[in-house]
Formats: sequence, C-alpha cells, structure tokens
Amino acid sequence: MTSSQAITSLHVPLLDLQAQYATIRDEVLAAVGEVLDSQVCIGGPKIAELEQKVAALCCCAYGVGVSSGTDALLCSMMSLEIGPGDEVITTPFTFFATAGSIARLGAKPVFVDIDNRTYNLNPDAIESVITARTKAIIPVHLFGQMADMDSIMSIAERHGLAVIEDAAQAISATYKGRRAGSIGAVGCLSFFPSKNLGGVGDGGMVVTNDPTLYERLLVMRNHGSKPKYWHPYVGGNFRLDPIQAAVLLVKLPYLDGWSEARRRNAAYYDERLGRLGVCVPYIKSGCTSVYNQYVIRVERRDELKMHLAQRGIQTEIYYPSPLHLQPCFADLGYEPGSLPESVKASREVLALPIYPELPGAHREFVADAIASFL
Ligand SMILES: *Cc1c(COP(=O)(O)O)cnc(C)c1O
Repeated sequence: MTSSQAITSLHVPLLDLQAQYATIRDEVLAAVGEVLDSQVCIGGPKIAELEQKVAALCCCAYGVGVSSGTDALLCSMMSLEIGPGDEVITTPFTFFATAGSIARLGAKPVFVDIDNRTYNLNPDAIESVITARTKAIIPVHLFGQMADMDSIMSIAERHGLAVIEDAAQAISATYKGRRAGSIGAVGCLSFFPSKNLGGVGDGGMVVTNDPTLYERLLVMRNHGSKPKYWHPYVGGNFRLDPIQAAVLLVKLPYLDGWSEARRRNAAYYDERLGRLGVCVPYIKSGCTSVYNQYVIRVERRDELKMHLAQRGIQTEIYYPSPLHLQPCFADLGYEPGSLPESVKASREVLALPIYPELPGAHREFVADAIASFL
C-alpha cells in the first residue's frame, strides 16, 4: 500500500516553472531591477560574468552568450565556415533546430540512426555516410546524457571534421569526467525556459576552448563586424540580452542542486518502474545524466499517455516524428523505412515529469498510475 493509492486524480504537470520561481523570486527581481536601473540594455557586465561562469562550469576557456540555442548552432556553423554544398552529419531523433540550422545555411543535413538504448547518435553508422563534402558532425546529448564522444571524436579526427556538440539538453552532464560542450570544437547551450538552466525567454551560449574560434564567434554574433562598421564576414544579431544574463546568474548557483534533485526523481522511477519491467532510461557507465527529460519506452505508448492524462498527469513525446521524414526535408529522399531505430523510438517514447521540485507524492502517483495501466 502506498499513501496515494486512494487518490484517483491530481494535477501533475510535466514541468512547473512557478514552483522554481517561488524559491528565487526576490533574488530574480533584484537582479532584473539592477539591469533596469543601469539601463545597460545590450552587453555589459552581466553578460561577461555569465559567459565566464558558464564556460567555467563547462570546463571551457571561453563562452559567447547568444540569443538562443538555435543561434548557438547557427553562429557556430557560420564561424566554422559551413555553407552551401557542405554536408553535416547528425541525428534525426532530436529537436528540429539541430537540423534546421544546417539547412538554413544552405548545407545538407545527413542523418545517421541512433543507438536504441541511449537514443544518441550511433557512431557505427557515421563513417559510411562521410563524403568529400562532409564538414562536421553534430552529436546531440539527448535528454541529458552525452553521446559516445570517444568514438565520434576519433572518427572526426580521422576525417578532418569539426564536432559541434548540441548540448542544449545537457548542461553540466559528464562523459568520462568531461563536461558537455568541452570535447568538440564548440558546445551549444540553450537557456530556453524548459532547459535545466532556463531564462525568462530565449537565450543560449557557445562554449569553446579554441581561442581562434572564440574570436570568430564574437565577430559573427555581431554582424561579422570588426572593427565597428567594417564587415569581414556576414554575421547576424545573435546577442544575448542582459536581463536574461541577470536571471541566469541568479539561477546558476542552484543548478547542481537541481540536477541532483532530477537524479533523485530518476532513481525513484528507475526503481519503481524497473520492477514493473518498464524500459527506463539507460545511462552508460562513465556517463552522468542531468535528466532534462526522463523518457520511458513502451509499445502501447499512446494508450499509456491517455491513461495518465485521464489521471491528470501530463506527459510529452520527444519526438513524435524523426527529422529525416519531415516534409521540409522530403527532397533529401529518405524512405519511410530508413533509419528504423529513430522511427521505432518515435512511436514508443514517453517523457514523465522529472523537474527538480516535483513533489514526492506526485512522483509516487505517476508510478502508481503506470502500474495500474500495466
Ligand atoms: C532546445 C534545443 C535546441 C534549441 O534551443 P532554443 O534555445 O530553443 O533555440 C537545440 N537543440 C536541442 C537538442 C534542443 O533541445
């Protein structure tokens, strides 16, 4: 018997940003007030401080604050001179931005199937799609666990390719003791509100250890201008704004505790759901996940989602359609049966509430509801 067995319906959201805000409200209001009082509305000390602290967290020498995770990818690829005619290898089982950014630069996304346990890029499938036009590989550290970076880096080095880590979901995750974003040429972070370190709007950062690339990123973020009003490149307006930086600086010291709380929630689900025979997240040895999402895998996924919804439990499907089968990429010519692991995953995955402030009773209620379905 568990304490919540008598309860038949609760409101259990997938994410409750108000619960987190309640714990830091005074600090956030003061920090935002400071920016407003200063009227330094572009650039300034908050941006510099955030760049330095996030870079340090990621074990990188440099950080470049940008307007979103998407723009982190765009600005990185522009700085690496990726453009028309180039091919970039990535996973089809990710948020659209990863491949959308490649296509927006006139380059061609080349999709490779995923590992069916981690949902990350399967390195064994990479070499067969490398051509003379291949410029880069973008591994995505999906749901908070890093991709198989040793294999990816060794393939990239063998073929002279740049590696751009899409670490939007994996800030401070580790792979053999190394942080997300610190292994490839660059790491791309997102501060979208639902990410583990979320702003109050859009924001992102590129982290790197490469001083030349750092200089190029700074120029590219500001219309490719250096010196002012002189444009060696066509860049963009990819700037992060100081109000976002101020809020993120308030949140940053809490991030480790929040990741720990996510891992505690994950451990609870692992134990309860594992006993029921549910396919729970597989975390490779040597990796620590920051559980941006806790994703289970079930054959009767749509029925389970409905069953949970009827009990007031919100869940989500990341991602219901793999990118190689999206209408905008039809001209790439992928067949419906291609990249089968990605297709299969898109039919079976379900993300459960895992956010740090998730009440214990809710966690228990979710596990009970899944048990009653099975
Ligand atoms: C969120 C996300 C992005 C894009 O970040 P935005 O800040 O929303 O532009 C890119 N890649 C992945 C894997 C993401 O989860």
